[in-house]
Amino acid sequence: MQVPFYKHQLGVADAAHVAGVLESPMLTSGDVGRAVEAKLAAYFDLPHALLTNSWSNGAVATLLALDIGPGDEVIVPAMTFIATANVVELLGAKPVFADVDPDTLLLTAETVAAVAGPKTRAIIPVHLYGQMVDVKALRKKFGTKIAIIEDCAHCFEGQLAGGRPGAYSDAALFSFYATKNITCGEGGAIITRRSELAEKLKMTRLHGMSAGAADRFKAGAYNHWDMTRLGVKANLPDLLAALLPDQISRVDAKLKKREHLAKRYEDAFTGDSRIRMQAPLTDATHARHLFPICVAPELRDPLIQTLNANGVGCTVNYRSVPMLSYYAETYGYSPDQHPVSQLWGQGTLSLPLYPTLEVKAQDHVIASVFEALDAIETKSAGRPASQPLQQLGA
Ligand SMILES: *Cc1c(COP(=O)(O)O)cnc(C)c1O
Repeated sequence: MQVPFYKHQLGVADAAHVAGVLESPMLTSGDVGRAVEAKLAAYFDLPHALLTNSWSNGAVATLLALDIGPGDEVIVPAMTFIATANVVELLGAKPVFADVDPDTLLLTAETVAAVAGPKTRAIIPVHLYGQMVDVKALRKKFGTKIAIIEDCAHCFEGQLAGGRPGAYSDAALFSFYATKNITCGEGGAIITRRSELAEKLKMTRLHGMSAGAADRFKAGAYNHWDMTRLGVKANLPDLLAALLPDQISRVDAKLKKREHLAKRYEDAFTGDSRIRMQAPLTDATHARHLFPICVAPELRDPLIQTLNANGVGCTVNYRSVPMLSYYAETYGYSPDQHPVSQLWGQGTLSLPLYPTLEVKAQDHVIASVFEALDAIETKSAGRPASQPLQQLGA
């Protein structure tokens, strides 16, 4: 049985939306995108939403709007996708890695405080796998002088104590990349409560220009534009934006299916001492973007091989970022500086999770995990585990 890691659910109706844009003269950012921005602002109950052509370019636009650059430090989690750190590095600022909580795998005010210093200009908390960092607690601890930019690439639908993305931060950034809960192939969005930041973002998202193409040709007359600050090319074309409104309307209904499947995985694996999972928060909605499990480091790669041989797609989200060659060599990080991220990164793998995943296919995934772990254990019987999972915490 083949169970792919991911399947998108775009189809004929979506193709019609794209065809609709082809009828208009403006293929790039225009009325379609603006309507999506209004829909996003309404969903998150915030005054400003700006579409971008990726999370990463949206993050560069945000850091530029906040004037973050050489000499500045930005705190990011060690357990995340590389893009979270790369955008900081690209702008000549220094990404400073904080470790994560051993149970929730999220940044906390304490793990951030351990690496914060006089050069800290911003924190980028990542709502890893779809579970929200306590941004309110970060704000309370670090005040308003340090900017908080939420990495919501995994978390569109999530909530914590009633707060959605953007509620307590300077800006929250989404990704609509191919595998995310909402996708247009490549894309993203920035939401913010701060009007003056939104005004700067409109420029830094489009080369630093004071007016976009649609505005320059308003009412048939050409209007001059100026450039007062440096920007990046980060606007989303209407051709792609047209794929978003239907998905935004349906995202909460789809979350119910993701939640149901995630609970089935949890029920199957709870109580097996070989498998660890992300601890759930109370009074929270998990966006259920990914379903990772963690096994002993020496079991991880053999487990992936067996799952692949059984037709089950899986990936690793993620290995500890400061230990990837570029960051380890550039900044001289060692594994003991981020022990939780290091150990989770050596043992984690993500299983298929998407609304159209059939229960029968999921049962095949679950059975394959147990079959693989039993087989690997029998083969290596008597050999002691190199690093017991218990080292990670509860
Ligand atoms: C996917 C992802 C990104 C990058 O998103 P792009 O839209 O591909 O730039 C950033 N952070 C996290 C945590 C991600 O998973």
